[in-house]
Amino acid sequence: MRDLRESWGEIASRIARARALCVLSDFDGTLAPIADRPELAELPADVRAVLGRLAAVKTVLGIVSGRSLDDLARRVGIAGIWYVGNHGYEIRFPSGEDRRFYESDDVHFLDALRGEFAEAMAGIPGVIFEHKGPVLAVHYRLVEERRRDEVVRTFQSVIQPHFRRVMIGHGKLVAEARVRGSCNKGTAVRIIRSELPARTLIFYFGDDATDRDAFRAVAGVGIGVEVGPPAGYADYTLPDPPAVLEVLERIARDRR
Ligand SMILES: [Mg+2]
Repeated sequence: MRDLRESWGEIASRIARARALCVLSDFDGTLAPIADRPELAELPADVRAVLGRLAAVKTVLGIVSGRSLDDLARRVGIAGIWYVGNHGYEIRFPSGEDRRFYESDDVHFLDALRGEFAEAMAGIPGVIFEHKGPVLAVHYRLVEERRRDEVVRTFQSVIQPHFRRVMIGHGKLVAEARVRGSCNKGTAVRIIRSELPARTLIFYFGDDATDRDAFRAVAGVGIGVEVGPPAGYADYTLPDPPAVLEVLERIARDRR
């Protein structure tokens, strides 16, 4: 895998040739540095500024996240772009129309599951539960290191009897129970793709295991960029969010 910046000559000529441009990105760990508590993560001002410049050169923008749609849209705060929340279970179109691919029953079920988790993990300090609608996240970044395995084991044993209804997802020091369904970041990216003009060049930036579905959705037609230690799921790599910012600046500059 190559650092995207080292291949810039080739990338710049693809940008110049493209009829239209679409920039899609994960939020946490890609645009914004990962915070100790999910509610503390913020979009850096210079990233917000470059997204504004990209929108001004008629680039279609989308933020694709495991956060809930409302939380994500509030945190980014740019109108008229795509937002994908809860790993594809919620999509806000640039028009402002929302689509949610789950039932209110699912939300009640996960609420009850949260009670089960809370009881089973009551003796482990630092666990944070976040109920995001069709997804229940158990964050253990603040749990002391020697007890993190215990969180994961307890999570798995509580969820075991419910496998018909939920599936497990693992992120960076977070375990998630998601309602069983076929939505993921890849299905969301395909919906966005279907709305784009032919010969649109798509960039996708992401650092999570769940971004791999999105990389597959742009393979062959777009430019997938894995952020952080490369695991081989995209064509290109970048080390961290500041490098992503640098590349967004280059795209805005070259597209003018
Ligand atoms: Mg991420």
